[in-house]
Amino acid sequence: MARVFDLRSDTVTQPTIAMRSAMAEALVGDDCYRDDPTVTALEAAVAERLGKEASVFLPTGTMSNQLAIRTHTTPGSAIATHSTAHCRIHEDASAAALSGAQIMPLGSRVGYSLRQLQDLVHEESCGWPRVALVWLETTIGDAGGIPWPLTADEVPADRDIDALQTIAAWARSQGRPVHLDGARLWNAHVATRHPLPDLAAIGDTVSVALSKGLGAPMGSVLVGSTDLIERARTFKHALGGGMRQAGIVAAAGLHALQHHIERLADDHARATKLADAMEDLPGLKVRTPETNMVIAEVTAPVDHAEQLCAPLRAAGVLCHPNVYREVRLAVHLGIDDDALAEIISILRDVVPTTVAALSS
Ligand SMILES: *Cc1c(COP(=O)(O)O)cnc(C)c1O
Repeated sequence: MARVFDLRSDTVTQPTIAMRSAMAEALVGDDCYRDDPTVTALEAAVAERLGKEASVFLPTGTMSNQLAIRTHTTPGSAIATHSTAHCRIHEDASAAALSGAQIMPLGSRVGYSLRQLQDLVHEESCGWPRVALVWLETTIGDAGGIPWPLTADEVPADRDIDALQTIAAWARSQGRPVHLDGARLWNAHVATRHPLPDLAAIGDTVSVALSKGLGAPMGSVLVGSTDLIERARTFKHALGGGMRQAGIVAAAGLHALQHHIERLADDHARATKLADAMEDLPGLKVRTPETNMVIAEVTAPVDHAEQLCAPLRAAGVLCHPNVYREVRLAVHLGIDDDALAEIISILRDVVPTTVAALSS
């Protein structure tokens, strides 16, 4: 059977052989008793890399985000976030279901401005809920893995957003806690070269994933002050997140932390190469990738980008069609230079004939 290249997401990676052997050799204990030395080592390592006091290892990023929400908000309060934040569109309305908090969307899919946040806070009272949590995300997943600019001088003139630092500083001046959803913080760090602690300083709590670009089979880590993380731990257990010999999977995360951060630069370079190769394909408008994802707007007449993804899938390239009539191709540690060359050749075969058929 011909090889299948899965570019739907960077979550589709297989653990490497070295990662599997780190897992096999891991020392483990009962994590509910805080007895698992590998979990403890991972939590210490992530907190240290991000320059925070404490952290808690969790099965998923969704649980990590939801613990942050539960920790910072009270029922009837609001979370201010950009319109397509993961916590708003991909977490099954859990902020409402689990914490009784309402998400107030601001701006667009590429972020929001300080002014928009200030306007929302200004409306508090008379039915407008109090903004108990200011939410930021980097890289921004729904926009194709673009880093939210950290400093004011990095904000592009044509984007109606403000820098992470600008928004976080104001939120803090108003006594509002900030959560940074950094599922792909590692990609933002590698792409922008901002030190991890500078990025993590944006959030009172920060969530990072081990299971996206870092290639571990599962796991996210929530970091913050000792106080906040202790509170989050009680909710972790309440939500069913109490784990036992979790060191087996934490070992994969530790291995990824040591070996898979700097290599994200390879994914970013391959994404750029892929985008360049797609430039002259008909029926597509390719955006310049900023990290590991290529977004191509389908300009050929389609009802849904699936009409382009289906023939690609049949030819062995899986990609993700989204609601904006775009095709997303995520590069990850399962895609080396040879795979990339084959992917490009399949795209060159399939896209022109498909676009011609759709246009006729
Ligand atoms: C993937 C992702 C999450 C959730 O992580 P899971 O482990 O899939 O639950 C949260 N936020 C962002 C920005 C993500 O990309």
